[in-house]
Amino acid sequence: MTVNTDLGKSNIGILKGLGKVRISLFNKMGIYNIEDLLHHFPRRYEDRGNIKDIARLSPEESCSVLGTVSYPVTNIRSPRGIHLTKTLVRDNTGTLEIIWFNQPYISSKMVLGKKYIFYGKINKASRMQMINPLLIELKDREKECILMPVYPSVAGLSQFQIRNAVKQALDMLSNLPDPLPSIIRHKYHLADYEESIRNIHFPKDLNTLDLYRHRPVFQELLEFQLALLFMRKQENMTDGIVFNQSRLIGSFVKELPFELTDAQNKVFNEVYTDMTSPKIMNRLIQGDVGSGKTVVAVMAMLVALESGYQCAMMAPTEILAQQHYNTVSKFLENVPYRVELLTGSTSQKQAGEILEKLKNGEISAIIGTHALIKEKVIYHNLGLVITDEQHRFGVKQRAVLSQKGTNPDTIVMTATPIPRTLAMILYGDLDISVIDEMPPGRMKIKTYVVSEEYRDRIDKFIAKEVREGKQVYIICPLVEDSEVIDATSAVKTAEETAAKFKNFKVGIIHGKMKSALKDDVMNDFSKGVIDILVSTTVVEVGVDVPNASLMIVENAERFGLAQLHQLRGRVGRGKNQSYCILFNQGESEISKERLDVMTKSTDGFYISEQDLKLRGPGEFFGTRQHGLPELKIANLYTDMSILKEAQECAETIQQHHYLEQDEFTRLKDRVIHLYNMNFGGQL
Ligand code: ADP
Ligand code: MG
Repeated sequence: MTVNTDLGKSNIGILKGLGKVRISLFNKMGIYNIEDLLHHFPRRYEDRGNIKDIARLSPEESCSVLGTVSYPVTNIRSPRGIHLTKTLVRDNTGTLEIIWFNQPYISSKMVLGKKYIFYGKINKASRMQMINPLLIELKDREKECILMPVYPSVAGLSQFQIRNAVKQALDMLSNLPDPLPSIIRHKYHLADYEESIRNIHFPKDLNTLDLYRHRPVFQELLEFQLALLFMRKQENMTDGIVFNQSRLIGSFVKELPFELTDAQNKVFNEVYTDMTSPKIMNRLIQGDVGSGKTVVAVMAMLVALESGYQCAMMAPTEILAQQHYNTVSKFLENVPYRVELLTGSTSQKQAGEILEKLKNGEISAIIGTHALIKEKVIYHNLGLVITDEQHRFGVKQRAVLSQKGTNPDTIVMTATPIPRTLAMILYGDLDISVIDEMPPGRMKIKTYVVSEEYRDRIDKFIAKEVREGKQVYIICPLVEDSEVIDATSAVKTAEETAAKFKNFKVGIIHGKMKSALKDDVMNDFSKGVIDILVSTTVVEVGVDVPNASLMIVENAERFGLAQLHQLRGRVGRGKNQSYCILFNQGESEISKERLDVMTKSTDGFYISEQDLKLRGPGEFFGTRQHGLPELKIANLYTDMSILKEAQECAETIQQHHYLEQDEFTRLKDRVIHLYNMNFGGQL
């Protein structure tokens, strides 16, 4: 074995079995060199060694069963063209039904009367079933029945291929240099780097995993905190733009069709003070759905425009970008500044023109998606950067947009209810403003949790609302019907709804549709051409159609409460009394209890707290709804104590300018690499 201290920096192409195509798939996940691969941590582990008696199985658990194939394997094709392979498996305690979908070859691998291990998830239908299990021969038991890592992946790359690549990399390793210098390791009792990496990928057992997980968690959080501290420091050291006192804001506010709330005024004043001072503004505006963040952002834009600077506003989806574009252009129609929209679906010709005019300054305000941070986008004098629903963007993307100007001021807006203590650590680089008041006159959205028995009544209610000229959302958890997951799909619901309400116009929108089509549908819904819109959660953030007064959520038990809160915020935006009907198709007490929280409260902070209590942190933070950076291994809730240590450590490093010392070079390099920092100054 060769001792290669720079192995980490070698391209993954040195691994066997990785051709061009596969390498590009790894690249898609941000994995270029061996170090990236070694930091591609498992998302979870399959505990295949956990063999259970059939009599003791419970629904939803994943486990192994050791049993004899006790019934001839049958193959059937369902009327909808799905291939089903079924059999029964018996152990000393009972019999279990096993079903595979679309894996016809599996039947040739099983012999009646022979013993196998089946690993999979238990489902309770009329009887206990295991769906699509892995079939393991007894001779492979040692090799297969371990804690098997399951990695985040992309289409075209199998778990086997990722595991294989990781294994090879681990085999080549020896003396992997530790990015953390020994003083840090000792002070925080951190395990050996290489040992930790090995054990995270292929742990002997759960205890060992626990022991070694601490180390990469600490490191990841430390790197994150260092990046935040660095950004903050850099902002404090450099002077930002001093925008002129505004002459237009007064009349702008007077002409608004509504009065600003005290909270909106307070937050705008905080923004305005920052903008008119030399301090670089970096402000998080937190405010529940519907609290009116957009108009505050537009006022900030106006201040920048008046001083002759450009503004950019970035939204996470095309729908949202389009909508912001409509809103902002309308708000700014009486001032002589050109506003344009740039997204992935802007035609090439148009995009070319926009880029040209952004560069020469003819366009003053640009609204868009990630398209705004592409390399070829060059600004004339970008002075203000706004990102909406920032939890969809990483720290890195924010930084990229800011770097397109010379120390521009930035605002990030979010409806994510994160407790303040956590927010202060996570957004260590930002000042926080909270819009803690709703515009007056909003009627409370009436929320009901119902079961299937209410279907007819609800259908009548839909008809009544539409006849009165109002509009309806129906939200489904899935795009298409699935044989494996028993939940309502948008496609099927749209068909059924269209059949039920022949006189109404029913539309559908979901994430698998082309963006241009999505825009058309959304526009039609905005204009009232569509009466009932069947949708997945693509409408979850920010979409504003005030005439929509009723939201039906199918399989509401499948959504997180914070997510339901966001969804519900799509209605109750106009003058009509609005309703939210949550169909509870779940059976557990917990799901009823959770959904009842929605009927009792409209406070986003309270709702997500309850969600956290009832679902547990794993699931809560498992989804990407919560404004948290995408971390590879750390869990910001359960690893809170490590986060505090890491924060303290980062501050010490900063105070003593440790990153300038040789021993810290590797750590510094990693932070630069991960967060796209250019360390001009000292940290
Ligand atoms: P969010 O904070 O969820 O982004 P929006 O900015 O989209 O909320 O505002 C929601 C709706 O409330 C919009 O239609 C907006 O025009 C309206 N609105 C904003 N501020 C006020 C106000 N002070 N009084 C009445 N309506 C307002
Ligand atoms: Mg918004």
